[in-house]
Amino acid sequence: MDVSRPTDSVDRLPVVYVYSKELAIASSLLPSNKARSIMVHKLSAAFGLLSSDPGSSQPKRIVTLAPARATPKDLTMYHDEGYVEAVLDPKYRFKARQQELEGSVEFGLVDDCPAFRGLAEYVELIGGASLAAANVLRQEKADIAICWDGGRLVSHHAHKAHAAGFCYVADCVLAILALKKPALAKAISTPAPRKTHVMYLDLDLHFSDGVSQTFYSPQSSSYQQVLTLSVHHAAPGFYPVNTLSAIPDPESSDFDPYTLSIPLHRGASNSTFATIWPIIERVKDTFGPDYIVVQCGVDGLSGDPHATWNWSLGGEGSLGWCLSRIVNDWSGRKLLLGGGGYHTANAARAWTYLTSIAMGRPLSLDSEIPDGIGDAFPAYAPSFTLDVPPGQMQDHNTAEYLDSVKTSYDEIVRRLEEKIAVNANGPSRKI
Ligand SMILES: [Zn+2]
Repeated sequence: MDVSRPTDSVDRLPVVYVYSKELAIASSLLPSNKARSIMVHKLSAAFGLLSSDPGSSQPKRIVTLAPARATPKDLTMYHDEGYVEAVLDPKYRFKARQQELEGSVEFGLVDDCPAFRGLAEYVELIGGASLAAANVLRQEKADIAICWDGGRLVSHHAHKAHAAGFCYVADCVLAILALKKPALAKAISTPAPRKTHVMYLDLDLHFSDGVSQTFYSPQSSSYQQVLTLSVHHAAPGFYPVNTLSAIPDPESSDFDPYTLSIPLHRGASNSTFATIWPIIERVKDTFGPDYIVVQCGVDGLSGDPHATWNWSLGGEGSLGWCLSRIVNDWSGRKLLLGGGGYHTANAARAWTYLTSIAMGRPLSLDSEIPDGIGDAFPAYAPSFTLDVPPGQMQDHNTAEYLDSVKTSYDEIVRRLEEKIAVNANGPSRKI
């Protein structure tokens, strides 16, 4: 593919969409999301999003990027060598002859993360996909890169040496580590540029434990380049149980202003997201990211089998509205990743719609599902439209609760400002 800068205008950098048939097939093997990837890419293609004509009047063109497979060296940027060896074992190759696959208990390849035929290719391709997306941003070949096969679907629960929560490879972390590397040579100037800031914003129903824990560093005096902010459902026993999923307490010795959480209650709706959005923007403005990695998990949308939130695609505070704010109003380059989402047709609807927003030509949510998606068409019953509207669930995030979140964040943001000032003037910033 050609992701070179278009000649007509420097403002018309393409949106890069990471896709290959090999990637979609490998991704569709994931036991928790069988065939989802193929359905997502098919719907985007059927809406004509993946074949934009550079000469057309579309605000941005899109180019698809076929990822290279991640190498063991790429994967060990984060994962332990033993784990990488275990998941890339030839017995997990798609063409392996073995009938019965025994998963390793030591590496967590059991229960909700069973070993499967094609696991090795899956890990290589998903890791490679998110790394490819991060690298086109670093190379300034795109302002927005999309990798719907990345994100939770494989990763934000995956720990260094253990698969967990349907996740086998921490592609989110690999992408962040790639983005935070020193700027490429052309950006080096005197005085030395500020170190790259990467913000990770997780909109999945589940807390981003793997990513948050990786960059969590309370009382650290070193320069912090990564800020994580997870908006998620929290209730006693809800997966994953982790102390970092609560509202951070600035008075605690464990407090890290760069590891942030906004836990929400049952039924979270557009209105709740519209209310908390200014908090997210304040954190972003205070931190000043060069890159924003957005994990766009869609298991909080109405209709998901989790039936926990009541979020929807359109209207103020919706997922579409939030993404539109990010891609249109926020400065910095954006990496959009997928994540959870267990109503397969709704996941395809959501990521197709978000792709159209990223391209600057949002589809109408009333659009009918086009022909040309073959056997998948009946899955879009009964509406056969693009929209994922809200359901009837009551939103338990009361005005009092959301007010208390805002009050907590007044102090959290103040502490973040202080820490950033220390960072900026600390020994590591002296030239
Ligand atoms: Zn999830």
